[in-house]
Amino acid sequence: MAKIPILLAEADGNDKWRVWCPFCVKFHHHRSMEGIRAAHCHDNPDSPFRETGYILKRHPREKK
Ligand SMILES: [Zn+2]
Repeated sequence: MAKIPILLAEADGNDKWRVWCPFCVKFHHHRSMEGIRAAHCHDNPDSPFRETGYILKRHPREKK
């Protein structure tokens, strides 16, 4: 099984978190908790995240 990539999440100003996806070239929004997510790369069939998902970690600059 492929290793699961980690993406750094930041608040999106709307009570959720966002992560920048370099394959879709846009932010994907998720609930505000660290952990594994199914990729939101719905518009990009070539994104490797679709196979692995990704792990959300809070961006260190946003840690309290
Ligand atoms: Zn994506």
